[in-house]
Amino acid sequence: MKVGIYGGTFDPVHAGHIAIAKKAKEQYNLDVVFLVPAKIPPHKNSVATSDIHRLSMLTLALTTEPELDINLMEFEREGRSYTSDTLTILHNEHPEAEHYYIMGEDSLIDFPTWHEPETIAGLAKILVAPREENSMAFAELLAARSEQYGSVFFPIDLPYNPVSSTELRDCLRRGGSAMDLPARVSDYCRRFGVYSDAPGCLRTATKTSFDSLVKQLEKRLHIFRLWHSIGVAYTAANLLQARFEDMGRKPGDDGCYDEVQQAFLAGILHDCAKYMSIPELVSYANLNDVPHEPEQETTGDVLHAPVGRYIAEHDYGITDPVILNAIGKHCLGEIGMNEVETAVFTADFFEPYRDHRPIDITLARLRDIALKNLTEGAYEVTKATIRFLETIGAPICRQSYLVREDLEKQIKKEQSAKADQTQNNKEKESTMSEYSSKDLAKTAFCALEDKKGFDVRVIEIDKVSTIADYFVIADGSNASQVEAMVDEVQMRLYRDYRIEPKRVEGARNSGWILLDYGDIVVHVFSSQDRLFYDLERVWRDGTTVDTADWKE
Ligand code: ATP
Repeated sequence: MKVGIYGGTFDPVHAGHIAIAKKAKEQYNLDVVFLVPAKIPPHKNSVATSDIHRLSMLTLALTTEPELDINLMEFEREGRSYTSDTLTILHNEHPEAEHYYIMGEDSLIDFPTWHEPETIAGLAKILVAPREENSMAFAELLAARSEQYGSVFFPIDLPYNPVSSTELRDCLRRGGSAMDLPARVSDYCRRFGVYSDAPGCLRTATKTSFDSLVKQLEKRLHIFRLWHSIGVAYTAANLLQARFEDMGRKPGDDGCYDEVQQAFLAGILHDCAKYMSIPELVSYANLNDVPHEPEQETTGDVLHAPVGRYIAEHDYGITDPVILNAIGKHCLGEIGMNEVETAVFTADFFEPYRDHRPIDITLARLRDIALKNLTEGAYEVTKATIRFLETIGAPICRQSYLVREDLEKQIKKEQSAKADQTQNNKEKESTMSEYSSKDLAKTAFCALEDKKGFDVRVIEIDKVSTIADYFVIADGSNASQVEAMVDEVQMRLYRDYRIEPKRVEGARNSGWILLDYGDIVVHVFSSQDRLFYDLERVWRDGTTVDTADWKE
């Protein structure tokens, strides 16, 4: 195995990182490249951006890069993330593997100041991407380092690319849009205001509740469990936000969706009962009359979901049934889950701190599917869970099979609704594209005739004006007839062509109402006003259309 290791802060991961990892893999024929985010980078005292954001962005960037993978080993280690430690661990675990460490030219310049550079050069070949325009200097640097530490330094054949995380952060802070970010990373930054003070998709009240819950949970949960819960909160919120944005759903007046807040809070609390062992959960559930199925007592560790629901309500003061239900159902799911429940259930499987390997599918692929369609994501997650448990011979709750079946049905329903919608759109489009402005004028003419409009005339004005192609003019003997004529024109043009006026002028009881459809303008007058304005005279340069055979 030839294994690429690409360490970095990835704050944020950008297109330059991805290009380097892919090129290194291709050029040096590597079997796999792992991006290894540093928990505490050796050369920095802290990372301003929270770990969850760096990790979320990295996992999102890799949803569309099946050739690349993530390794969280530095996150799981205490203290500074020294590359020499990382390579030593990897070498001890897989002495047969050939390791290739990937870095940029600036890192190679600093290399002698790194912790134990000799160890690094002894354990891996080092692949370096240029980071300056001067290719001579780059070649000299590689040669110099080879002389110092051995001939293990090789170039990655990429042109110099000036992109850097620092510049991207500055750009986002100034409210700019960063071109070099993968689309899902830039969506995430916008949604959670990662490098700016923009309000994003979470309300201030939600963030305050979240911070207070994290403080309380810290006292009960293991730190890894807490990280996982933070991961589920952000992932569930991101999945729902993406879904609603894709659907074009209107948010509340403050620009936020209620369900995103609920998913976020359910996410942070979903494992709040996980400080108990299975026997403790069983006795807690029975002692407190926590509603649950008997099979939940004997099948793996699933009782923490209904117990968690109870604890969220009684210990953490949550009263919103939507949040409580999402916590109670997060383990097994349920038939007919709502969107908040589905998002938490799905996020639990692949939030960014998750480092397990489902069978036949990758976490990146699951994330990709769920971001495109949440129901399909939930279905694939259920399938992957069942497949995994079957493979290891673990007991499986009957409910998981029912949920899988239900999600499958739901996907079919969604697909057929989408197909109907596409068909409707196509029909609408074909109707729209097949009519001319003359057709519109004729329809308006017939509508006015049928409502007994007086002296209905069509004047072709396209040769003398850019206002429209046709004017359709008529008058009615009183206000209610004028109104009926206007209504009939609007109804027929919508019914036959799905169009509405771009502009309506004149009050309902006034003597002149104008409907501007762009290509045609319909003028409906009271008899008196028609005489007064005398449009036919004003537009006498236009051609009066012979409508004798238009009458239906
Ligand atoms: P910063 O702006 O803070 O330096 P960065 O863009 O270098 O951030 P890191 O996560 O620190 O991002 O980079 C990880 C590794 O990738 C480093 O070895 C760095 O030299 C290299 N690297 C990042 N961007 C480029 C680039 N545009 N060209 C070549 N190497 C790069």
